[in-house]
Amino acid sequence: MKSRLNEVERREQMENTSFEKVLIFHADRCTGCKVCEMACSMAKQSTYNPKKSYIKILKNQEMDVNIAALDMKCDFCNECVEWCTSGAIRFVSVGEAAIIRKENQLGIFPAPMLSYA
Ligand code: SF4
Ligand code: SF4
Repeated sequence: MKSRLNEVERREQMENTSFEKVLIFHADRCTGCKVCEMACSMAKQSTYNPKKSYIKILKNQEMDVNIAALDMKCDFCNECVEWCTSGAIRFVSVGEAAIIRKENQLGIFPAPMLSYA
């Protein structure tokens, strides 16, 4: 029930906000290495510090799966995607993201945009 609520919240968030691109996350490919976080923090803050990254890889302990989320400050520069050797993340158009969401494939979903403030 909790995850269903989160899904509804995420969809509402996506539909009510207009973004240039959407990050698609392949949970089955993500190793949790956090190289994407390091790449982002270096690209945007000139430091290797995952805490300063605009992409976050979060571990859902209950389901034992990784989940990606993007800070709203992300400018879609693609640096994190280029450093991910697992092919677990990629940016697509908003239209393509809507199709992916509709297909509802297991472990493949648009990452929510969050404001970490
Ligand atoms: S998305 Fe890619 S780079 Fe980031 S933690 Fe997962 S496997 Fe590593
Ligand atoms: S696309 Fe966004 S999350 Fe990825 S490196 Fe660029 S600013 Fe960071």
